[in-house]
Amino acid sequence: MASLAEGMLADSVRRQTQPMQSYVPRGERPMTPTNASPDDPELPPWVVLHVPHDSTLVPDAVRDQFLLSDAELQHELLRMTDQLTHAIFAAPPCAAAVVRAPVSRLVVDVERFEDDANEPMAERGMGAVYTTTSASMPLRRPLAADEREALLRDWYRPHHARLEAAVADALAAHGQCLVIDCHSFPSEALPYERAEPRAWRPDICIGTDAFHTHEWLAESFLAAFEEAGWRVARDTPFSGAIVPASRYRQDARVAAVMVELRRGLYLDEAAGTPLPGFEAFARRVREACVDALDRPVRGGLRADRADCGPRL
Ligand SMILES: [Zn+2]
Repeated sequence: MASLAEGMLADSVRRQTQPMQSYVPRGERPMTPTNASPDDPELPPWVVLHVPHDSTLVPDAVRDQFLLSDAELQHELLRMTDQLTHAIFAAPPCAAAVVRAPVSRLVVDVERFEDDANEPMAERGMGAVYTTTSASMPLRRPLAADEREALLRDWYRPHHARLEAAVADALAAHGQCLVIDCHSFPSEALPYERAEPRAWRPDICIGTDAFHTHEWLAESFLAAFEEAGWRVARDTPFSGAIVPASRYRQDARVAAVMVELRRGLYLDEAAGTPLPGFEAFARRVREACVDALDRPVRGGLRADRADCGPRL
């Protein structure tokens, strides 16, 4: 199954290939074989699915930056990659645009602010360009300024340009946009999280932003995933949701919500391979997202109220 194979760890991280063009405008996407059934629930065209962490690609050109052996790098990819999130949220053709990072977060993490001065995780060595592993051990040799700049130029900024374009397209066509930030998290906290050792981990984490996630949007996602049978938490263990930098805390037409899936629900976390029932799980996730967006309409909250924040 093509959509599964892309997200799985291959034998050599350096031999993997993934499409480099991660944002394909709606209507121009080729129809590829997928696991979608004809009655698969469909997201509306003003949704942008952001998939930042499912790639395991470490290009040859930057492999020498990493202080890890191939086996150690594979292990780190296994811990840090949001395996199969593209297959779960975005593989079936749908009206929503998809923006997918083409390289591993170990190369650049597009979910972090570019400038370390604005990025809280930079103090843990995990800004846009990681220097430490998930165990807070050295990951990379020190980079020259032009090496860091090349990573941002080649991978970080093009990804954000695609996100900006997808959101601008949705606003131009529909006057509104919702970015669903698609992630997963390990069942047991990794050392870098600095979580309480026995802290409870939900099945689903709904991440919100004080400006871009209106209360009814957060409530709709929490309720939809809860009613689908999962234990759901808000902003636990991770918080926030991404929007393009030009819209951040500026443009209330751009709404955002993060959906984080506990990997143990669908993945053999030690092997990075899907569990039996993966396809049904993925479909339930997509159905819950569609259901969440249907709720404000059903509840009459779609009224044109200026104080209502982003309208969907
Ligand atoms: Zn993630």
